[in-house]
Amino acid sequence: MRYPRHMTLELTAKCNFRCPYCYCVWHEYPALAKPELDTAGWRTVLEKCAADGVEDILFTGGEALLRPDLFEILGHARRLLPKASLSLFTNASRLDEALIVRFRRRRVQLATSLQGLATYGGMTGTRRSYRRLLTVIARAAELKWPMSVSMTITKANAHEAADMFAAAALSGAKAIQVGPMMLGGRAMSHSELMLSRDEWESVKARIRALPDARVPYTFCEEFICACRPDTPRQLLDEWGDKNRKPCPAGKSFGVVGPNGLYRTCLHTLIDFCGDCGGIYG
Ligand code: SF4
Repeated sequence: MRYPRHMTLELTAKCNFRCPYCYCVWHEYPALAKPELDTAGWRTVLEKCAADGVEDILFTGGEALLRPDLFEILGHARRLLPKASLSLFTNASRLDEALIVRFRRRRVQLATSLQGLATYGGMTGTRRSYRRLLTVIARAAELKWPMSVSMTITKANAHEAADMFAAAALSGAKAIQVGPMMLGGRAMSHSELMLSRDEWESVKARIRALPDARVPYTFCEEFICACRPDTPRQLLDEWGDKNRKPCPAGKSFGVVGPNGLYRTCLHTLIDFCGDCGGIYG
């Protein structure tokens, strides 16, 4: 099979956060993350990306900065795909000025997530404060390498969603994406945190009512990945979008997981791939 134009490479399943909403599929199906590819394995994946004409790659995890060979992998990517758009999603816990400069030098765009303000510790399963993250976002903007910021809204942090948005915007976020927690991964065990559709509409209204900070933003409307064949009918009825357009997963974008196997999207499982297999599968 040929990789689609837009690819996400999940470099590791390891993460130093324990976000209750984490949608990574290996929380449900640990085998999907094992064994993790080594540097040579990722180089092979990148060679296939180059051969298939992939136009952009998002490197993520888990927490990609936990891989000691991250810059080696990025170096391969830049050499093999000199014109591709490369970006990295990180929880930013290990990101600092020196690393931002290294990413800027390699033209690797940066994205992170702001999971809460007062709720940051609970939303990340850590004892951390949001303050360091905002400082990193602001420093990246000062270094002319501003970060995109995503925000996952749950019942726990919905009350401060507008404040989170304002904090990210005022810290210098390049763009902001806001979405409700999706049912999948670790979130499957925390369905009590799912917003109702009315609560989600209220969050959007409060964000839209904020003064214009001149930061582009988008709302992600998905509560559940309807592509997954194992989604119980009752959950689809409750959370599925009846007006959902056909999903381009596997057509314009795809994912390679920590073990090198291809999936059609972040939320789908290897079994769903049908004939696509994976270069290691
Ligand atoms: S959502 Fe991201 S930061 Fe949080 S546990 Fe999952 S991979 Fe780690």
